[in-house]
Amino acid sequence: MQPDDGSRPDLGTVPDAVFRLDAEGRFTYVNAAAEFLLDKRAEDLLGHTAGDCFPAAVNSLAEERYWQVIADGQPREFDFFFEPQQRWYEIRVFADPPGISVFFRDVDSRYRADARREAELRRFASVLEALPSATVLVDSDGRIVTGNRAWESTLAVPQRSLGVPGSDYLEAVRTGLAPSDVEAIDAGLRRLLAAPTGTVPVTFDHEYPRSTPTTSSWFRLQASRVELSQRVVITHTDITERVRSEQALAWRARHDELTGLPNRGTLLDLVAAALAAGSGEEGPRVALLVLDLDGFKTINDSLGHGIGDQLLRQVGHRLAAALRPGDAVGRLGSDQFVVLAHDCDSAEAAGLAFRLQSTFTRPFPASGISVPLSASVGVAVAQPDARDPHQLLSDADAAMFAAKSMGRDRVRLFTPGLREAARWRLEVATRLRDEAVDQLVVHYQPVVRLDTGAVEGVEALVRWQHPERGLLPPDTFLSVAEETGQIIPITRWLLAETTRQAAEWAAQGLPLRMSVNVSARHFAAETLVRDVRLALRESGLPPDRLVLELTETSIAEDPTRAEDQLKVLRRSGVRVAIDDFGTGWSSLAQLFALPIGILKIDRSLLAAAEQVTGGESGAVLTAIVALTRTLGIQAIAEGVETAEHLRMVREAGCDLVQGWLLGHPMPAADVPGWVRGVQDAGGDVCALAAAGTPLRAVR
Ligand code: C2E
Ligand code: MG
Ligand code: MG
Repeated sequence: MQPDDGSRPDLGTVPDAVFRLDAEGRFTYVNAAAEFLLDKRAEDLLGHTAGDCFPAAVNSLAEERYWQVIADGQPREFDFFFEPQQRWYEIRVFADPPGISVFFRDVDSRYRADARREAELRRFASVLEALPSATVLVDSDGRIVTGNRAWESTLAVPQRSLGVPGSDYLEAVRTGLAPSDVEAIDAGLRRLLAAPTGTVPVTFDHEYPRSTPTTSSWFRLQASRVELSQRVVITHTDITERVRSEQALAWRARHDELTGLPNRGTLLDLVAAALAAGSGEEGPRVALLVLDLDGFKTINDSLGHGIGDQLLRQVGHRLAAALRPGDAVGRLGSDQFVVLAHDCDSAEAAGLAFRLQSTFTRPFPASGISVPLSASVGVAVAQPDARDPHQLLSDADAAMFAAKSMGRDRVRLFTPGLREAARWRLEVATRLRDEAVDQLVVHYQPVVRLDTGAVEGVEALVRWQHPERGLLPPDTFLSVAEETGQIIPITRWLLAETTRQAAEWAAQGLPLRMSVNVSARHFAAETLVRDVRLALRESGLPPDRLVLELTETSIAEDPTRAEDQLKVLRRSGVRVAIDDFGTGWSSLAQLFALPIGILKIDRSLLAAAEQVTGGESGAVLTAIVALTRTLGIQAIAEGVETAEHLRMVREAGCDLVQGWLLGHPMPAADVPGWVRGVQDAGGDVCALAAAGTPLRAVR
């Protein structure tokens, strides 16, 4: 049987071809399919031996098998390549006594496709081997076809038995994965397989963590479809190191390196979340507390940054330990910490503030020494409509600032008035950096001898001629200048301006001693000696006409540093005064070890002495003055406002006086006229003042 047109129909549809051979190998039966495949008619075959009909098959594998089956009766099955046709056949041979039955079919195209696929797989496997990442080839039904060596040892597959060829890919990788990751991988692979052929490149990418009780690793899965084969090749790259370093970086961006606490940004995020979460009727009930360590700069400067760092870490630990679960502590920077408390009204927040302060009662051990610390705490409680975390922080900050200005170890609750103060501080800080330095003016207050009533000198007191607010006293802006460091250029300017002024007055026949206030910051900057020398050189003012006033607290911050600089200045002839004596807690011994020439007794002592009056008024004053005498130091009484004050300080034995009774601070232009007015009226300011004579300036 042969088709008319000579072409072969689709062989897959042809049923099995069958023929029979007798014990001698002669054809006894041939069906139509066999006629077709053998390409011979039945009549040409029947009665002839296979060897006669197909000389090419003599001694072939097929012939050998036929004889074997005829001999032993055991069925045989094999693939056979028939040379003359250049095709593959699948042959099954059964005993059919006395001969055999042979079933066969053309499997050429299937055989060749399989061979091709296998070669492809072998090629593929060698490509996979070359890949460093664990890689598998997965079939359309999700089973593993093959994997490379890296796959055999990858951590992406926890159980080796699961990753072998033939097993389910998803099962192999699913242990230790979050269900959402398993789902994502499953869906991704399905999508790849379902994509219509030709829509290349079809790829899928997914990063996921895999955790075991002891470790956790990260993988990047990249899958792409092998076009035309309905298979997917999947690589697994261990990205644990990269993810860890990214995580470490992210952690560092959100935390304070030194203490490991959340940083400012993180805390603000937490506050924002707390404010948003509490948007119910009651409002957020969130409180923020800013803690600033008192005098920490001095500790850092004197004990070194190593100890400073240890202390900050300990403070962080103690604060964290004092919090309720859910509340948070962070570090704002330098010596400032911030605490976020949930479910807190003003009273509870204040309670918390005191509790936090009490964590400072025990001193902090560091490198074998024990350091006492305290903190000033500002508390701000969120208003019901509060949404802005920055505002809450700046309120708490303003409260902290107010607490600080009340002294050490204080707690202060935020009030709206403080917001205004904070705004003002900000304005001052920015303006002082820019134009405001040119708007500073100096007023001069007379310093008078008590014995003769003669004008001894003046104290220079700075003011800010604010374009909108008018003349501002120093306490409205100097503390900000100290904070920002602007105080140093300001003092430098003051030294130049006041020495120039004193020299000018001296040239006019008015030799006045000039007192200038110097801030503690200037000691720390260590430019004081240089700045003073420069001012004296430029102005030509003799050094003994200059007095530097320092508050006792400014010296107490770093006595050694102060002492070194003051000694140099003293040797050059400049005089040093301790200002506001009686307002600090400095050790007298320490103070009097310094090369000081003048002690200015604060007016608060005068006021206190006045309270106790009843005849033997100023016992304290007298004692202080007696002390200065013993040490060879001059005593100035500050803030003499009344005739009674004047009487008291005279009785106590002060050398010099200063105060509204004798003369208010005045602009430079008024000073010569005022002094001349005094001289014209007899020259004794004390007598004139005690008599109630108004001191008129003569221009
Ligand atoms: P201080 O150095 O103790 O200056 C004396 C302050 O007392 C001045 O206040 C002065 O105006 C005021 N005063 C004078 N007599 C009387 C009086 O009889 N009664 C009362 N109640 N007050 C009187 P002022 O000018 O407001 O200065 C305040 C403080 O600001 C100064 O205290 C000083 O510590 C600081 N300061 C002023 N000018 C400068 C400066 O140029 N540099 C620095 N670093 N600080 C300055
Ligand atoms: Mg002063
Ligand atoms: Mg003073």
